[in-house]
Amino acid sequence: MIHPPVQLGPNFIRNIVDEDLASGKHKSVVTRFPPEPNGYLHIGHAKSICLNFGLAALYQGRCHLRFDDTNPVKEEQEYIDAIKTDVSWLGFDWGENEYHASDYFEALYAFAEKLVEKGLAFVCDLPPEEMREYRGTLTEPGKESPYRSRTVGENLDLLRRMRAGEFDDGSRVLRAKIDMAAPNMNLRDPVLYRILRATHPRTGDAWCIYPMYDFAHGQSDSLEQITHSLCTLEFQDHRPLYDWLCEALEIYHPQQIEFARLNLTYTVMSKRRLLELVNEKHVSGWDDPRMPTLSGMRRRGFTAAAIRTFCERIGVGKSDSVIDMSTLEDCVREDLDQIAPRAMGVLRPLKVTITNYPEGQSEEFTAPKHPKKPEMGSRTIPFGRVIYVDRDDFMEDPPKNFFRLGPDREVRLRYGYIIRCDGVIKDPVSGEVTELRCSYDAETGGGVLPEGRKKVKGIIHWVAAANAVSVEVRLYDRLLSVADPASEKDRDYRELLNQDSLEVLADALVEPELASAEAGESFQFERLGYFCVDGKGSQSDKLAFNRTVTLRDTWAKLAKG
Ligand code: ATP
Ligand code: MG
Repeated sequence: MIHPPVQLGPNFIRNIVDEDLASGKHKSVVTRFPPEPNGYLHIGHAKSICLNFGLAALYQGRCHLRFDDTNPVKEEQEYIDAIKTDVSWLGFDWGENEYHASDYFEALYAFAEKLVEKGLAFVCDLPPEEMREYRGTLTEPGKESPYRSRTVGENLDLLRRMRAGEFDDGSRVLRAKIDMAAPNMNLRDPVLYRILRATHPRTGDAWCIYPMYDFAHGQSDSLEQITHSLCTLEFQDHRPLYDWLCEALEIYHPQQIEFARLNLTYTVMSKRRLLELVNEKHVSGWDDPRMPTLSGMRRRGFTAAAIRTFCERIGVGKSDSVIDMSTLEDCVREDLDQIAPRAMGVLRPLKVTITNYPEGQSEEFTAPKHPKKPEMGSRTIPFGRVIYVDRDDFMEDPPKNFFRLGPDREVRLRYGYIIRCDGVIKDPVSGEVTELRCSYDAETGGGVLPEGRKKVKGIIHWVAAANAVSVEVRLYDRLLSVADPASEKDRDYRELLNQDSLEVLADALVEPELASAEAGESFQFERLGYFCVDGKGSQSDKLAFNRTVTLRDTWAKLAKG
């Protein structure tokens, strides 16, 4: 297996593994990442992937990719494919070790018969509502099913006929015979198999009974000789059942260990909700760049390296917490700062005519693609009499500390000349500023400042009208307008959706270097943030850029340069 580039810090799970290796309980480490293919992977899954594959790499063991595909009603091939794409993209390789719980349906069924033969499982005919009543509550013990005393022979016969398709969906189930008075509800004769006529993405119509999660999961772990079965805290209460089943079946017994799931501010992270957002068209799909899915983040421009760094940084613990989205965004900025070529883009163009620059003349400036990485080469930036600047960089009546353009103010064009705003043209009807009339200082080209000349504080980005490429830019903001939707107890998360999470700028301009940029390429638009070319272009077939993240402290940095 290729060792993934993830550095797991010390954590309690590593301690357990260290002890198990030291005591000789295990000779090697085998973990698994077990997604249910009922949706796309999200950033929470990335935590589990980095942990499971990271541990396997650290101890030179292996990590399986196992699809927990026991509920054909919700599972689809599309999800299986998307999950594989996302795990690979994150940088992890399961090699030969791709498995499916459905590969084990025959073995799991044999386990069921074994339990029946040992008198540890029975077929129950209680209708679902009654079964629920019999289950009791957290404070009251349950009641035993009247079918609990069926003989082994009768149970075996019924189970076989369940499998043969003799009974209606939902009319009977196979249950473990444990303890209806157990304080842990999961041990109150839990259901192991149900009758369900649904076509499975892999086994088709071969089966009309399907194992429940609790019966499939641990037994799959056991069949694969998983040493440490890592799951999130909500499965803590399932562990006694996990253990009971391994003991009852007398099979290899992996150790289940629970860790805290990842929660992030300003988003939701359950597949059920993400599916609702997709189905109800609050977003454009699973890979909408506002989604916390790996496919959405990839389209947005988040890098796999940044997500791995984030997973390393948040660590692995035992108490639930909500991590600030800005922690993830910081990791993205740090990575893109290293790798993204610089470019200039003007989001809301305002025309500027340089009145003292001769008509028909043009020239080119040279700028590095990356200020700290000369090996990335340079780019040429054309300049001419008409250029565009961002509307935000002009104010008609600016305050003193606005170091950009205003009437009679000077500003440096990034890599170019110092210009001065001499006049403003407005739309006679709306009063909107439509053009700036400026003059340039011919001595200051390419960032030069002649001796004795007054410095200018502000540097702004711009593009030359003649060569600029017209593009669509999509500005994304957080999916939700509140940090912690769970704290808004009586409001559905859909009421908390940020109505301004997407702004489309149909007529932005970028420098000509970017005309040939390809889907997935990221750039830093100077002063504005990081932008990634979207594979899904605009309706007008223009190149489309997604804003990945804004820059922090942009202004402070540029004022120095
Ligand atoms: P969700 O609760 O979002 O619907 P899930 O738990 O149903 O997710 P699975 O496909 O069953 O999704 O998850 C596969 C693995 O990923 C499991 O081991 C699960 O514990 C882990 N996982 C899921 N969500 C998170 C999370 N937020 N943080 C850490 N691990 C997670
Ligand atoms: Mg699950």
